[in-house]
Amino acid sequence: MMHLGLPAAGPAPLPLAVAVSRPRAQQPEWPDQAGVRAVREALRTAPPLVLPAEADRLTARLAEVARGAAFVLQGGDCAETFTGNTESHLRGNLDLLTRMAAVLARAGGLPVVRLARMAGQYAKPRSAAMDAHGLPVYRGDMINGRAATPAERAPDPDRMLRAHAASAVAMNFVRAWTGGEVFTGHEALVLDYECALLRPGPPGDRRPYSGSAHFLWIGERTRRLDGAHIGFAELLANPVGVKLGPTTTPEEAVEYVRRLDPDGVPGRLTLVTRMGHRRVRDVLPPIVEKVTALGHQVVWQCDPMHGNTFVAPTGHKTRRVEHVLDELAGYFEVHRRLGTHPGGVHLELTGDDVTECLGAGIGETDLPNRYETACDPRLNTRQAMAVTARLAELIRR
Ligand code: PEP
Ligand code: MN
Repeated sequence: MMHLGLPAAGPAPLPLAVAVSRPRAQQPEWPDQAGVRAVREALRTAPPLVLPAEADRLTARLAEVARGAAFVLQGGDCAETFTGNTESHLRGNLDLLTRMAAVLARAGGLPVVRLARMAGQYAKPRSAAMDAHGLPVYRGDMINGRAATPAERAPDPDRMLRAHAASAVAMNFVRAWTGGEVFTGHEALVLDYECALLRPGPPGDRRPYSGSAHFLWIGERTRRLDGAHIGFAELLANPVGVKLGPTTTPEEAVEYVRRLDPDGVPGRLTLVTRMGHRRVRDVLPPIVEKVTALGHQVVWQCDPMHGNTFVAPTGHKTRRVEHVLDELAGYFEVHRRLGTHPGGVHLELTGDDVTECLGAGIGETDLPNRYETACDPRLNTRQAMAVTARLAELIRR
């Protein structure tokens, strides 16, 4: 793997047990430790979903993105569900991603790396521990159930085994349907699950590989620098991402780069900025400038979804396509001005004909019609293609 001419890496990474004994945000309160131990053991001996060589191949593709020679398109459900793990749903999402990638490749004259938010996106960070009924909040099918009953909402460690099995089924379909080369990624949230799916790399490699996905990212709510999630990501050999919200300081961003890309490997680190359309033009430039001055080649990816969420009068969590487009435009403006590569996007979308976001034919009164997401609102096909058309213009300049 190609390295920058940076000073030698710092100390060897901490052992896993130490790294993940740091403060662990957003972890399920499993009712029974014996059950968790049994599940961890089963996952430790289970076949991984992906192999180290595939993760290395993705790092190489993301290195092209980092140096401005490719674009990365990441997308899929906010939260996958066990019941939604059907042929038609997976096919719809993959086909949409592929259509979008084709438009962007034509517009930019650059290869587009497809990264499906699929085959493992089964756990969600939440802003409150309890819901309006006083029940533990839904945290994703890997942890508990969506239905508002005490039994469904109780965290069940066996769900980690179901998540692994469902992911394996999805992964098999991804490979078969796309003929290889579509990569998968999800948020690395549940540490019991992710740690049990680490696998050693080739002899001599000091870092373990994730067996759960090609790409893992750390979310906005679990990115504290002294926390277990960053400690975990630091250990991985896979390419990793970190979501950066509008409160991120340039100094913090630099610290993520030092910690998560200590060896200066282009493509190793993706900074996923999700600033919101109102703030992106102010908040992003000093971050990009400081990171660029460090000399690391990171992937700059824009998530124009998570900074633009609000609750509609109908009570539905939603987003306006218009705001998504504005954040994307701001992201392109900033990177063009600073001479850095606006290398990709991270979108919540589905090929299903849902009514979760506003715009492109969906108004507030339409939201209840097909509001099916288990968590955040997704772009439907028409909305995603509208975003793609605008992205194509931005890429062409
Ligand atoms: C997500 O990607 O679904 C998510 C929770 O994002 P963020 O960590 O950026 O809030
Ligand atoms: Mn989301």
